[in-house]
Amino acid sequence: MEIRFLGGAREVGRSALVIDDSLLLDYGSTADAPPQFPVEPPREITPDAVVVSHGHLDHVGALPALLSGDDRPSIHWTPPTRELTRRLAEDTLKLHGNSPQCPFGREELKRLDEVSVPHGYREQFTAAGYRVTLFDAGHIPGSAHVLVDDGDTRLLYTGDFHTDDQRIVAGTTARPDADVVVCESTYADVEHEDRQTVEQRFTESVQTTLWEGGTVVVPAFAIGRTQEMLLVCAAADVPCYVDGMGTEVTATLRQYPEYVRDPDALDRAAGHAREVTGRDGQRERIADQPVAVVTTSGMLSGGPAMTYVPAVRANPTNKITLTGYQVAGTPGRELLETGSAEIDGRVVRVSARVEQYGFSAHADESGLRSFLDAYEDATVLVNHGDSCAQFADRLRVDGYDAAAPELGETVTV
Ligand SMILES: [Zn+2]
Repeated sequence: MEIRFLGGAREVGRSALVIDDSLLLDYGSTADAPPQFPVEPPREITPDAVVVSHGHLDHVGALPALLSGDDRPSIHWTPPTRELTRRLAEDTLKLHGNSPQCPFGREELKRLDEVSVPHGYREQFTAAGYRVTLFDAGHIPGSAHVLVDDGDTRLLYTGDFHTDDQRIVAGTTARPDADVVVCESTYADVEHEDRQTVEQRFTESVQTTLWEGGTVVVPAFAIGRTQEMLLVCAAADVPCYVDGMGTEVTATLRQYPEYVRDPDALDRAAGHAREVTGRDGQRERIADQPVAVVTTSGMLSGGPAMTYVPAVRANPTNKITLTGYQVAGTPGRELLETGSAEIDGRVVRVSARVEQYGFSAHADESGLRSFLDAYEDATVLVNHGDSCAQFADRLRVDGYDAAAPELGETVTV
């Protein structure tokens, strides 16, 4: 079996790898402007089939581009991943559709439905001649570990995963037998704070601000994090609004209750949050009320958050609670480090208090280690991280056959 790493090797973003030039796993893009794509452009890669791990931009962002020529590879995924991919592709067309750098158009997006083959977890199927099985990865609804078996070698591509429970999905428990594991390593050198403690600190901080009459802006990624924050707010009875793409994503995920840890809780959380239409200065009015607003984007790089932050920034009673990792160079990171942020091309000073909470959907170092405990005899190929090589080094010290392939590298197993 030959595995070529086309993206997400010693980096995060644009995940893609191809097996024997035939079976493609993920085909993502970065959230940069302009976005970056896997190193082999769609016209040069002609897979017989594609299997997708989950519906985040860095795993599916460039997928429709594979359908631009005459080739129509089948695309295998869970139903929620299919829906999230379609939603992200529509968003990409809205943002970049007029740019020559946009790798696909409306035609390609439409063809997704023609080639889509949905599968449930643990249901074996054939793709490009391989036996493939998806297992619940505990990252977001529909997220999967992908097991690929050519009759000789079993490869497990972990995709993004979490070993601890979140409110929206339970952690992964699947450890299928494998000879080779391609393992994500986003938080390979981090230990997360206990989730209950994070939640408690978050809700106490929000409640305090609301009692003082302030507004709390809760920037959150649309897929996974927005639903998690709505569940947290509902459980603590924090009055909240929801705004941005996360609203539609919540509605989509409610249609797939079997992929959500507690569908009734998600229904209640969706009912608990008031939806923002954004008409007639509604956002400005909300920014004057003692409520929380869960809104895209998670790193303040777009979306309605750009209306709320300027509206709440001048009053130190207000608060902005970032709910995840902030990539260097984003307005969210800038705000954390300098107390100012560039919003719509203007650098604004923020007097409102700024806090950060680690509501991660990825395993931390202990989580990665506990997962890999089941694979001591396998070859481990570390990807999807900022320090893949260092993590592979540490695994080797502990007796693993581990490596961190580089971008464009082919590994024969
Ligand atoms: Zn992800």
